[in-house]
This record gives sequence, C-alpha cells and structure tokens, in this order.
Amino acid sequence: MFPRVILNGILIKKSQQKKIGSPENYKERFFVLDTKELKYSECRPGKKPVLKGSVELNKIKFVEVVNTELPIPCNFKFPFQIFYDNYYLYIFAPDNNCRQQWVTALKEETQCNDTVTKYHPDMWMEGKWRCCQQTEKLALGCTEYDHTTLASKKPPMPNPEMIQPHTDMRVVTAIQDFTPTEIGDLQIKKDQKYILLDDSDLDRWLVQDLEGKTGLVPSTYVAGKFETNFSRFEWFNNDIKSDEATQLLSKEAKEGAFMVRRSSRPGQYTVSVFSNVPGANAERKPNVRHYLIRQKLNSEAPFYVAEKKSFSTIPELVHYHQHDCAGMVTRLRHPVSRPLSDRRPSIVPDDPFEDREMNPLELKLEEKLGCGQFGLVMGGTWRDKKVAVKMIKEGAMSEEEFKEEAKVMMKLSHCKLVQLYGVCTQRSPMCMVFEFMEQGALLDYLRVKKGDLSQEALLGMCLDVCEGMNYLESSNYLHRDLAARNCLVSKDNVVKVADFGMARFVLDNDYTSSQNSKFPIRWSAPEVIRYGKYSSKADVWSFGVLMWEVYSEGRLPYEKQNNMEVVNSVNRGQRLPKPDLAPEDVHVLMKWCWKEKPEDRPTFAQLLHQLPSLPNE
Ligand code: ADP
Repeated sequence: MFPRVILNGILIKKSQQKKIGSPENYKERFFVLDTKELKYSECRPGKKPVLKGSVELNKIKFVEVVNTELPIPCNFKFPFQIFYDNYYLYIFAPDNNCRQQWVTALKEETQCNDTVTKYHPDMWMEGKWRCCQQTEKLALGCTEYDHTTLASKKPPMPNPEMIQPHTDMRVVTAIQDFTPTEIGDLQIKKDQKYILLDDSDLDRWLVQDLEGKTGLVPSTYVAGKFETNFSRFEWFNNDIKSDEATQLLSKEAKEGAFMVRRSSRPGQYTVSVFSNVPGANAERKPNVRHYLIRQKLNSEAPFYVAEKKSFSTIPELVHYHQHDCAGMVTRLRHPVSRPLSDRRPSIVPDDPFEDREMNPLELKLEEKLGCGQFGLVMGGTWRDKKVAVKMIKEGAMSEEEFKEEAKVMMKLSHCKLVQLYGVCTQRSPMCMVFEFMEQGALLDYLRVKKGDLSQEALLGMCLDVCEGMNYLESSNYLHRDLAARNCLVSKDNVVKVADFGMARFVLDNDYTSSQNSKFPIRWSAPEVIRYGKYSSKADVWSFGVLMWEVYSEGRLPYEKQNNMEVVNSVNRGQRLPKPDLAPEDVHVLMKWCWKEKPEDRPTFAQLLHQLPSLPNE
C-alpha cells in the first residue's frame, strides 16, 4: 500500500552538520510528511522538486517546539526539532500555527514509537545545551516529554441525541463514511450524528463526534436536519451584528436592500431590511428592520417570518420574500454584503489549508474536457468531489503574479461564479482546480440548443451572468474578458461566470494587445481598445455583447466584419442589431450597455434591477 500524505509545505531546514567542519546553513525545502517518512526536497519553481533527504518515522524519538531566545538567522522564525538516530533536525516554520500543525502531525504519527522521557526545549550552542547547560550533546533532556497532542486531550462532549435543535449546537448526520485524508480531518460513519461546530467554509465543516473528537469533514458527507450551508449566497453575512447591518443597509439606502445574518440568539438567523416606508413608529430612524427567522420544531417546513408562510430552508424563505413582502415592510430586493476586503476569511480559523495549495496526490485526473488559452482542461476528482482541472502549459501564464492573485480569486465565492477551489503550484505543470460544470461552455451550449431555448431560458441566462457580475462589481473585481465562451453551464442549466481576472496572466502576445488577432475586440468597450482602460463599465459593455450572443443563440457578433471593420463601425457609433429572438426592451438594455461614455452605461446593480422586469414569454 502506498503511504498516505499527511502534510506538505515549504519550511526552512537548518543543516545538520553531521560531518565535522560542515557549514551551518538554512535552506528552504519542500517537506512532505506521509505515513512512513518525512521527506524534504529542493524547491525549483515550475520543475519537479529534487529529494534531498528523509527521516523514517519509526526512528523518531521525539518531536517538539523549540523555545529559544536566540536570534533566528533565517526568515521563518518558528523552530521545532525532531530527534532521531541520535541526530537533531531543526526546522523553521513561517508562523506559529504552521509550526503547531507540523508538530501535532508528527507527534500523532510517532506516538507509538519508543519515545524519550525527557528532552531539551532550547538549542545546543557553543558546546552546551542552553536550557540546562549540560555539555554533552546526547545528554538526557531536562524537561518532561509529552508525546500526546492537544487533539487527544479534549474533554468528551455530551451526546448529540440529547441536544435540542433550537440550542446553539446543530446536529448533523453523516450520509456516508468518510476516512480522513488530511491532518485535522475526522473519521465519520454513515448514519451517526455529529455536532456541527463551524460551517463557515463551503466545503469543509468542523464537526465533533460522541467522544468529543473534533475535525474537518467534507460538507457533502453530512446533512443537517435543516439546510445550513447557505454561506455561498450573496445575501448571507455570517458574522455581522445588528449595528453593522443597520449601518451597511443605511449606506446602501435602497428600498428593499437586505441581508440575512446570524442572530444574537444562538443558532438562529435574522433578516435585516432597509425601507423608507414608515413603520408603526414613524420616528424610527434609520429605516432598518430586523426580523428574526423563527423555527417551528418538528416541522418539515420550520422556517418562517410570517407564520402563514413557512419553508424548509432559509434560501427558500428568502426567495419567496424576494417576490412577496408577506408580512415584512417591503420585498427583499437588493442583497447586501460586507465589502469583500472587510470580510473575515471564511475558512475555519487557523486552517492550514486556507491558501488552498492542494496536494497533487489528492487530485485524480480523468477525462479531457477541452483545450483553452492556458492549455488542457481535464475532468477529475479532488477528495471525492468532481472537479475541472486547468493544466497550465509552460510559458502560457505569468505564474508568479498569478499565484498571488489566486488567493484573492479563491475568496470570491458566489453561486453564479465558477468557484476556484485551489491551485497546485508545487508541481509541473501548475494547475488550477475549479468547480465542475457539467454542460461546458455557454457558447457551445447555445449553439447545441439552438431553436430549443425559450424566452424564459434566454432571459434566465442573462440574469445568472448579471448576478455573478454584480457580485464581482460589488467586490471591486474586474472580469476583463466577459463573453459567452467564458461562462459555463451546470447540470441544472445554471450559467456561471468563469475566468474572471485571468486575462491579465495570459502571456500570448496575440491575445494581450488590441492590435492582435486573438484580442477580444468584439466584446471590448471603445476605451479598452483605444487606451486599455478597464473598469466595471467596460465589463458592462461586454455583458451587452454577451446578451446579444445569448439572444442570437451563439452567433459571432459582427459576423460579417473583420476586427478592423468592427472597430471602425463602433467608432462611428454603429451598434449590433437586435437579434430576432430579442424583445425590443432587451435590445434597449443592450444599447444602454453600449453607450460611448462609460459613465452613461448602467452598473450591474442597475441591470439586475431591470432584467427581471423584461418580457420572458
Ligand atoms: P482557458 O482558460 O485555458 O482558456 P477555457 O476556460 O476556455 O480554458 O476552457 C476550455 C474548455 O474546457 C471549455 O470550453 C470547457 O469546455 C472546458 N471547461 C473549462 N472549465 C470547465 C469547468 N469548470 N467545468 C467543465 N468544463 C470546463
């Protein structure tokens, strides 16, 4: 059986100076801990790492943090030590959490070893141990060694069966067995109950079992009695209190601006909504009302604001009240969320995987899905989840800049954006792992379904894209290459925006300059073509062209003209004609997106307001 990888990452290793006179140095190494050994390799960006050494786990006698006041001569300032075969290996982590992860993982893997009873908590320097002044390097340690880890010391928790559903703790049931694949995971068994401690990450939830052991499990492996995983909705703000909600909604000051947030009452949620309609107390200011979402026990449809209208999930409740105020002061019209830059990271605190550098061994590549600007796109699985993997061919992308940006892109999360789950930058070719979209690119979908698409479906596609773009706009993020070829369709015919921001990392000259053949001239606003001036309003122009592609079922915009002719005719003020399938009002909206001056074009928020009222029959 192959060893299972537990942890990997870049750390700094101090030379062991096993030979007399060999130099003291500190080198960055890519460490991999698996169930058999700890290996370290030289990192060579874009290339395969070269193995430099390894330690068999069964030889390890202790692993512990180093407590020292000595100045640390490398960039990573958090040392830990591994003692094996009478050698000390000193390793430096970039922060305390990372160090703790490694020490805990190593201790867990070696706890059945024949470990020492005492160890040295400080360093060996200039012929003596700094902690106890002993002058023999292999002298018995001076501090009791504890081989157990914090995780195994937690007190047991109460039986989930005893917990009432309206308390702070939520109980979930495993719908299938899960065997840990990572440090920090928890083994769960089908049909057993667990306490849900944190569901703020979309994919990995923190749960606790009957014995009090806590750990992460894939969110798809457990089901709550009630739907709780709605953090992907734009209107959901997990950690906003009523004062901040009032402030944000008042700033928005739009009739029906709303959000759902966790209530100050444990385990409950509140809808906060802005309205200018005077309430019972007309003096009340600002005009934000907070409605507690109440829950009926033992009901199939437990959630309600107005008692006569109850729903089995909160998203259903919100959806209903988006169309009908039913007891609220106004309909829920405009979702509001905290600006992205102010949001706390949504993943479990101290989660070592937060930056989503993925372990290549967890990624299984299967079928070819297509070929794009950056290279092959493969279907595959990551932790039992179907994913799409973009393999970035060498020389196609400015990788260093991209790696930084990927962290921002991964935090963008919306049900109408194709989610970037993570990246594998340690392997070559580098790859990006995305949410899998069963029906492929929107452009192909339109062409395949030509003749079969109803007005409702066509408008629905534009609305989906507009929702995703509205989220990007409100996050101050530019797409820069919005077009039907860069949107994808899910198995339920939901259209999602993909490839946002990626145009900046293309290295192909044919693509990057407006003078060149692959530049998306037909989708670009005049100011982009003339001066490369990108903005949300330039994205709005492209959105107008995308609407045109939708209503013409995948035709090429300005199909009879070459790029030069397109530029000239747009400069003369000519615009795309109304597609046969487009109602007049839809064409009016397209033309609004194609106003010469960016400031005359609508925002996505305005478009989102207009689109649902357009004819769809
Ligand atoms: P690139 O960004 O390298 O230009 P594309 O995004 O154009 O690549 O992808 C090429 C093709 O791969 C698409 O046309 C589509 O068929 C397929 N594809 C890309 N991403 C996904 C995905 N997330 N799910 C399913 N298929 C995908």
